[in-house]
Amino acid sequence: MDKTNITIIGAGICGLATSFILSQKYKDIFVVEQRDSFGRETSSRNSEVIHAGIYYPKNSLKANLCIKGKTLLYDLCKKHNIPHQQLGKILVACDNAEEKTIEGIQRNAAENGVNNLRFLKKGELDTLEPDIKAQKALLCPDTGIVDSHKLMHFFSEKSKNNNVEFAYSIKVINITKKDSEYEITVKEPSGELFSFKTNIIINAGGFYADEIASMAGIDIEKNKYKIHYSKGQYFRISHPKKFKINHLIYPPPSTTDLGIHITPDLAGGLRLGPDAAFVDTIDYAINEQDKEKFATSVSRFLKDLSIDDLVPDTCGIRAKLQAPTENFRDFVVTHEKDKGLEGFINLLGIESPGLTSCLAIAEMIKDLLQPFDNH
Ligand SMILES: Cc1cc2nc3c(=O)[nH]c(=O)nc-3n(C[C@H](O)[C@H](O)[C@H](O)COP(=O)(O)OP(=O)(O)OC[C@H]3O[C@@H](n4cnc5c(N)ncnc54)[C@H](O)[C@@H]3O)c2cc1C
Repeated sequence: MDKTNITIIGAGICGLATSFILSQKYKDIFVVEQRDSFGRETSSRNSEVIHAGIYYPKNSLKANLCIKGKTLLYDLCKKHNIPHQQLGKILVACDNAEEKTIEGIQRNAAENGVNNLRFLKKGELDTLEPDIKAQKALLCPDTGIVDSHKLMHFFSEKSKNNNVEFAYSIKVINITKKDSEYEITVKEPSGELFSFKTNIIINAGGFYADEIASMAGIDIEKNKYKIHYSKGQYFRISHPKKFKINHLIYPPPSTTDLGIHITPDLAGGLRLGPDAAFVDTIDYAINEQDKEKFATSVSRFLKDLSIDDLVPDTCGIRAKLQAPTENFRDFVVTHEKDKGLEGFINLLGIESPGLTSCLAIAEMIKDLLQPFDNH
């Protein structure tokens, strides 16, 4: 292959959703992935929650893409029988300060146009969730769970049916702009290098997206594009039938993460997590010593939880633009034409709610590419 029209770097949920949407309109799409299959990084290491869009600042991309994305995702899952369940979520407050926080979340949700949150009446929490204790509880009906692997498989199969080509175990190592096109150099598993040309690049490289942007000549520090890694571990309840949990149960969020929550999964399991800690390297090992922290944190709202109920589960790494000392940073989904990179679309900082937003992100990319339609 000497040349392709569109190259998508990364076969996580964002790259796959983008290839699914774009392949309904464009021909000649190539997806390059360094791992041996799709979804080997963050997209298979998350809570699999379809978020409602209640936390993020009004008019941010995180709010808008999450709210649009959840509807697109529920519709797609229903239409194509992708396993999912709209369980709803309950935010619990265990003291006065937390009560104020969840009241603020209800106001923020309303500002974002999510108006269906309501505080549970006295006794209602006991009926809905007999194993949960809280001073006050806020119900968010839109939240759900999805089988992210089946979703990625669906995107991959549909894309292949639309003639998208996938190349696995191939790492992009260099990008050079040549007139109105790009030359991409990749490294094959044998170590051999291979180059091809492309008109359009979509950088969906997850926590390596800053490196890929830098290959194209973008100054990462100047543009505040550096990706920071925040590790999130999960513990699983070894015998989930001990508890009857019907909703997702969340504490109030912190400024960096959503708090260690209880997520029922589609297989009937119960996961606790993720926690959050900034790290320098990608390492998926779980620190068993953190079991106590998880048990203490979740015992505040889950009755009769003992440390012995927990076993280590998985771990994921958030790709955050927000540095440890910074406040909120939004997703970056942008066409880098102002940097002289016509046809280069960057996705950066696609942490949560990236899974929920994947179809809305893909639709946004389709809109960004519209000016190229007459090329
Ligand atoms: C702990 C945790 C919990 C989360 N929970 C939720 C949730 O419940 N709901 C929700 O909506 N979101 C959640 N998220 C966020 C969500 O998982 C991410 O937003 C989403 O998976 C990001 O997908 P992606 O395709 O951008 O990145 P990734 O899945 O990381 O995919 C990027 C791909 O690019 C490839 N790549 C990188 N560099 C190169 C290169 N040079 N050459 C070739 N390939 C390359 C990588 O190998 C990788 O496969 C969570 C995230 C974490 C970490």
